[in-house]
Amino acid sequence: MRQILWFRRDLRINDNAILSSAFDEVLPIFIFDEKILSALNKDDKRVTFIYESVLALKKQLKQKGLDLAIFYGNPIEIFTKLQKEGFDELLCSVDFDYYSKKRDKEIEKILPVKRFCDSWILKPWEVYKKDGTPYKMFTPFYKSLDFIWQSKSLEEFSFNTNLKLINFDYSCNISLKDMGFKKEVLPEFLKKDAKQLIEEFSKSINSYVKDRDFFNKESTSMLSVHLRFGLVSARELFNKIKELNTNDGDAYIRQLFWREFYNYILYHFPMSQFENFKKLNVPWNENEDDFLAWCEGNTGVPIIDASMREFNKTGMMHNRLRMIVSSYLTKNLLINWKKGERYFASKLLDYEASSNIGSWQWAASTGVDSVPYFRIFNPYLQSAKFDKEAVFIKSVIKELENIDAKTLHKEGAVQENLFVDYPKQIVSISFSRQRTIDTFKRLQNEKD
Ligand SMILES: Cc1cc2nc3c(=O)[nH]c(=O)nc-3n(C[C@H](O)[C@H](O)[C@H](O)COP(=O)(O)OP(=O)(O)OC[C@H]3O[C@@H](n4cnc5c(N)ncnc54)[C@H](O)[C@@H]3O)c2cc1C
Repeated sequence: MRQILWFRRDLRINDNAILSSAFDEVLPIFIFDEKILSALNKDDKRVTFIYESVLALKKQLKQKGLDLAIFYGNPIEIFTKLQKEGFDELLCSVDFDYYSKKRDKEIEKILPVKRFCDSWILKPWEVYKKDGTPYKMFTPFYKSLDFIWQSKSLEEFSFNTNLKLINFDYSCNISLKDMGFKKEVLPEFLKKDAKQLIEEFSKSINSYVKDRDFFNKESTSMLSVHLRFGLVSARELFNKIKELNTNDGDAYIRQLFWREFYNYILYHFPMSQFENFKKLNVPWNENEDDFLAWCEGNTGVPIIDASMREFNKTGMMHNRLRMIVSSYLTKNLLINWKKGERYFASKLLDYEASSNIGSWQWAASTGVDSVPYFRIFNPYLQSAKFDKEAVFIKSVIKELENIDAKTLHKEGAVQENLFVDYPKQIVSISFSRQRTIDTFKRLQNEKD
């Protein structure tokens, strides 16, 4: 039996389904998909991160007596060629977004594919309500998962040490430059591996609940990028946190299951990638200038602008800030969540289709178990609460460095200072809040 092991977003050797399920002769491969790469900005940091992670995986596989063949091109063409070299099947882990499903269907026409659901703890097709339909609310979904409470740890896949490496040209001649990219500077936390991040987080876990919303405190795990590219398995992370046996650890595991929940929703309701989950026909604001002001961080609201400018620079944003900017875009500017979702997708280092779509629909009150339409964040109250001394705002927006924090947390106050070069607010918070409440109330009544 000659098997191709196609690594995609499972760039690890620990607890890896394909490395455990394979047997006999194997060709481990990674493909830099031309089509995906051509749609990215040329300064995309994720490509540098993936490139380095793939090389690290190659090294780890070599230490185990295996190797990794690295390709750049169209997966369909690559598998068509490989198929002619006499392979029997292809093993890979799956994703449930539209593009991945479509690509995999095409590949199945070329080679038999053995698929594994290895990027999440749950297999979405195994969890249903008593009436046989999928859950749409997080809490009952979460409570139904008995294994979380009953088991101390989840079973992990072991590495099959009997694999024989197929003779192949494993030399890697593809550089970032060949693919049209260059080495980008990555944020400091990405220089640490998952093991290090877990160790550090485990030491401070007891302040997770208390501090996780305070973006200046660095109290969250920063593991979302590693989870996204499978540098650590969700099972292994679950086990490590469970082992700590703390209340904050349980709260963390609950967050991990939001990731599971959104993947579950995308699996069962694939159209939620493109449509409002709730069938609401929202009259979205199509003003491109408003959208651009949000993207560039020129809305005149300090916390929004600081978050977006920092995001544009680093590709990262703290969860609380994601909640604040997504609420502002969809509720204050009344702009379609899909635009925000796409903008995040174009830059977010931990971009994960299911979590991003689910979270944006949550913020827009169009999704499953989403925030009630009348509960709209006031960005000024949010910054006063979570960035009291305006440390974050001032660190990003240098023009505001000498402005008193209270002024930055008061609507329109900074613009009264004629000596500060800072944009005017594009919309009043109370007016826009009321506009959204009225709009959603009307849509709700029409639906009922
Ligand atoms: C508008 C919006 C878009 C988002 N887009 C993404 C995305 O594309 N990819 C992504 O991984 N997360 C997304 N999130 C969720 C969340 O912001 C990040 O997972 C979190 O900020 C990552 O930091 P952390 O690993 O330090 O989080 P921690 O607090 O340490 O959480 C641990 C893990 O739990 C998961 N998690 C935590 N909160 C959520 C959540 N609300 N939804 C889903 N999973 C969660 C993540 O995998 C995270 O790594 C989004 C949230 C919002 C509001």
